[in-house]
Amino acid sequence: MSPTSSLDTKEQVRQATDIVDLIGQYLTLRREGRAYKALCPWHDDTNPSLQINPERQSWKCWVCDIGGDVFSFVMQREGISFPEALSMLAERAGIELKSFPGAASAAAGKKSLYEVAAWAEDAFHRCLTTDPASAPAREYLQQRGITKESIEQFHLGFAPNEWDWLLRRANADGISINNLIKIGLLATSSRTGRQYDRFKGRVLFSIRDTQHRPIAMGGRILPEYEDEKSAKYINSPETPLFSKSNQLYGLDRARDTITQLEGKRHAIVMEGYTDCVIANQFGFHESLAVLGTALGERHVRLLSRYADQITLVLDGDAAGQRRANEILNLFIAGQLDLRVLTLPDGLDPCDFLLERGADAFREQLASARDALDHKLFVATDGVEIGSGSHEANRALEEILSTVAQAPQLQSGGHIQTKLREDQFLARLASKFRVPEETVRERVVALRKTARRASRVQDSIASHNPLQIQEPWERELIEIILQEPESVSRAVESIAPEQLSDPACQRIFACCRELSLAGETPNFDRLVLEFDDPAMKNLLVELDERGRDRGGSDLAAQLPDLLLSFQRRNEKRNQQQTTAALKEKKFAEDQEVTILQNLIDQQRARQRDS
Ligand SMILES: [Zn+2]
Repeated sequence: MSPTSSLDTKEQVRQATDIVDLIGQYLTLRREGRAYKALCPWHDDTNPSLQINPERQSWKCWVCDIGGDVFSFVMQREGISFPEALSMLAERAGIELKSFPGAASAAAGKKSLYEVAAWAEDAFHRCLTTDPASAPAREYLQQRGITKESIEQFHLGFAPNEWDWLLRRANADGISINNLIKIGLLATSSRTGRQYDRFKGRVLFSIRDTQHRPIAMGGRILPEYEDEKSAKYINSPETPLFSKSNQLYGLDRARDTITQLEGKRHAIVMEGYTDCVIANQFGFHESLAVLGTALGERHVRLLSRYADQITLVLDGDAAGQRRANEILNLFIAGQLDLRVLTLPDGLDPCDFLLERGADAFREQLASARDALDHKLFVATDGVEIGSGSHEANRALEEILSTVAQAPQLQSGGHIQTKLREDQFLARLASKFRVPEETVRERVVALRKTARRASRVQDSIASHNPLQIQEPWERELIEIILQEPESVSRAVESIAPEQLSDPACQRIFACCRELSLAGETPNFDRLVLEFDDPAMKNLLVELDERGRDRGGSDLAAQLPDLLLSFQRRNEKRNQQQTTAALKEKKFAEDQEVTILQNLIDQQRARQRDS
């Protein structure tokens, strides 16, 4: 439970956030009676199974067994913690977070950084589109095949080749120079100690986060300003707003397309901004780009929230191939389906599309190798396989250990993936001229080791819904959620410690406390008391089930439930006492009193019934 001081804030933010509005920002909603439905983004959903209950301000997917309130929705969707969700929704509602002093000042600080980043994006964009001095930049983009529409859609910009252009603009507009330094747009010269425009003379690609906020820049130097000293491409440095291993260029735009794709949610990851922009022009709106770094574990985690399948389009060079090989294990071990595409003739996606068009690119995408085949291709490159040489054995071992790491290929996976594995191993055996039996045995052995390591990982990473073992405890909470006034009656007969399920115990203890403080522990209040998404989910589940079973009429069942609880409790005590008596745990005079008590209890029960 959270301290009461923050409860007001949570309540205020919750009041200001409508769940239909909020989820509607992420998913397409369909109205059904008083409720709304959407395609659940967390499973392969074909008929909308994410239910939104506007009255309760709750959501639930029974297939995934996840649900909760506005907070747990953004936690789940954005992969963030409760405080982050609270601050995000507070910001969205224009509420200042007073009760978290640390968070509030940090949020306020960050807020002004976002504002400055947005100001800069706008200044650079207007410079590119309206300033006569930007003519060479516009010409350059046109030559690269980038249209005016793309310039608008991607908020492209230009920084004139003057060291103090941004500085002067900032001073004129009253923008904090300090903040511009913090977000990496201004740098400080080590020679003169003066600030200068880090991106001067560059065409700028605005990097936005998934909430569409500008956070950083990627810059391509105009060819006429190129010299040996300056890199062709640079990005903003790591700042409080930006970390290149956490961000992907174009994800803010691609995300909606990806989650709304029919069938498999597919993303195309490229290596350059221009590739991504041009791919969008050709209708591949699910394209994004890494930011001057290889695709890493955090990118994969980020992407797996939205996509089930990724095609990584590599530049044809050897470095690109190596980069892909490094991340293959990551994908094969994860739940994502990775395909790797190397375009022919050393072309990058941008040139390929401009030269050969969308259909040819689509054909290439369809022919992309899956991660295992790519692994085989890379591991055996330049190796004389089938020769039984040391090198060939090492390549085979490398491939097999990759196969062993793939959880979806392990027993219990889909029949289709099992088949794929069988075929792949058969192919390996014949390629390397090794008995199939040997290959399979080796995978089994490697897998045993891999499984031990991954089990720990799984239990941490997986979302484990809370399961309640005691049906009567579940019923008790269901009744309370439907008829909160009934709590006072329940707390007279039951102490929270008497409940055996830890989650029910926590909920009931909270109900009891609220009730003793003269407050009504209704659904809204309870769901707000718990920040933990698993608890929120459980409350929504019990609430929905309770409503299906009769709503507030359920309260009529409470006396019977309490009575049977008391009986069960007495019986358990009796059994324990009888067992203790049998084991001669009491002194003789004690025994008589205890026996007398047992008989009295028995009689009282017979009288009652
Ligand atoms: Zn679902």
